[in-house]
Amino acid sequence: MLIIGCDYHPSVQHIAWIDSETGECSERQLRHSDGEAEKFYRDLKAKGVKVGVGIEATGHARWFERWLAELELKLWVRRKRGNRKLVCSGCGRKLAEAYDTYEREVRDLPCFEFRTTVVVELYRVRCPGVD
Ligand SMILES: [Zn+2]
Repeated sequence: MLIIGCDYHPSVQHIAWIDSETGECSERQLRHSDGEAEKFYRDLKAKGVKVGVGIEATGHARWFERWLAELELKLWVRRKRGNRKLVCSGCGRKLAEAYDTYEREVRDLPCFEFRTTVVVELYRVRCPGVD
């Protein structure tokens, strides 16, 4: 599998990847405006390469997420460390620290007609209000 870490900006994305089988890795920049990024991912799909893309959560990447879904790629979405807003699901108290993180895979999203897997990182918090 080709695992791609994507630093997403509105006009460009910086990617770094590693091939999990060969250990080969590299990085490059892909422009959005002239279709360079789209071509890059479509070429991988055409070659039958299994691809997973990791991206930090942002409101500006909806088209990119939709498009990766069309290509049936795996997408990991992470929150930026500094933007964490942790809330106890039991009482709504705001908490500073997570003591554990885990992943949940969401498959067959109804908003896409294509098969895709989105992996969302979730947090467990230890709330002083709960014993
Ligand atoms: Zn609580």
